[in-house]
Amino acid sequence: MTQYREAYIMEVERFAIHDGPGIRSTVFLQGCPLRCPWCANPESQTQGPHLMYQARKCVRCLGCVQVCPIGAVTAFEGRPQFDRDRCIGCGTCKSVCPGGAISYIGSRMRTDAIVQILSRDAAYYRESGGGVTFSGGEPFVQFPVLYELLVLCRERGYHTAIETTGDTPWENMEKALPFVDLFLFDVKHWNAGWIDRVTGGNGERIQANFARLASLAADKITARIPVIPGYNYTEDDLRRIFALIASCGVKRADLLPYHTLGVDKYSELGRKYSLRSVKMLSKKELSGYRDMGREYGLQVEI
Ligand code: SF4
Ligand code: SF4
Repeated sequence: MTQYREAYIMEVERFAIHDGPGIRSTVFLQGCPLRCPWCANPESQTQGPHLMYQARKCVRCLGCVQVCPIGAVTAFEGRPQFDRDRCIGCGTCKSVCPGGAISYIGSRMRTDAIVQILSRDAAYYRESGGGVTFSGGEPFVQFPVLYELLVLCRERGYHTAIETTGDTPWENMEKALPFVDLFLFDVKHWNAGWIDRVTGGNGERIQANFARLASLAADKITARIPVIPGYNYTEDDLRRIFALIASCGVKRADLLPYHTLGVDKYSELGRKYSLRSVKMLSKKELSGYRDMGREYGLQVEI
C-alpha cells in the first residue's frame, strides 16, 4: 500500500488566477527560511497551527481566560492576551469564544487528501490552461512532500508551478525540475549580501540556483520582483535586477507592487509589522519600470 506523507499546509485556495496561467488551485505550504519584513503571509513562516486573535470581533467576555487549562490567556485592560509560546493548541478557548475572535491557521494533511481536493477542479485546469501552484512559505522547505505532490500532479496531467524564494539546496531544485512547468522565482535584489542582511536568506545560494536553473530551463522561469519602497524601489536597483535576470537568459519578469493586505495578520498573531508607515504602490507608479525592463529584452508584467 502506498504510504503518503503528511504536509504542513495553510490552505488550498481554489480558483486562483494570479499564481500562473489559467484557473489554478494554489497549495500554501508552511515553513520559510526567510523573514522578509514585507511578508504578506507571516502565518506561513513556521510550521504548525497558529492561534489568531481578531480584536475587532472580541466582545471581551474573558471566557477564554477562564477556560485555558494552562493559564496561557490572561486579562489585560479588559482584553485577553495570549502567550503563544505556552499555548498547546488544545482549542478550548476557541470553542467558548462567542465572537468568533479566535481561530487557528495551519494543519497537517496527507498528500493524497490534498490531491483529492485538487482533482475537483481538473476540468477547470483543462479548459482554462491552468493547473496547480505550490506556494508558501517556501514550498521547498518540505521537499519530500513537495516532490510527492509534484509527481502525483504529473501523473494526473496537471500543469504545475512553484512560487519559490530559491533558497534551497540545488539538488532539490534539480530533482523537482522534470515535474515543474513553471518556476515563479523571486528576485528580490541584485546584491546577495543585501538578501542575507534584509531577509535572513542565503543570497549566494539563491542567486546561484537562479543562474543554474536558468542555464537548464530559462523558458520555465518567470522572475518575480517584489517592489518595496525603502528597500529596492529605485531606478538603479531595478535596472541592476533587470540586468541580472536578463544576463541569465530569463525572458519574463513580473513586478509585484508593495501592498499592505497582510498587515492585520501580524497583530492577529501577536507580532509587530515594521513597515506600517510604508504606503502601497499602485500599478501606475510602476508602469515606467515596465518599459525600462523592455530595454533589457524582458517581457515585464505588473
Ligand atoms: S472568549 Fe472570545 S470574545 Fe471572549 S474575551 Fe476571549 S476572545 Fe474575546
Ligand atoms: S488553545 Fe488551549 S492552550 Fe492555547 S490559549 Fe487556547 S485554551 Fe489555552
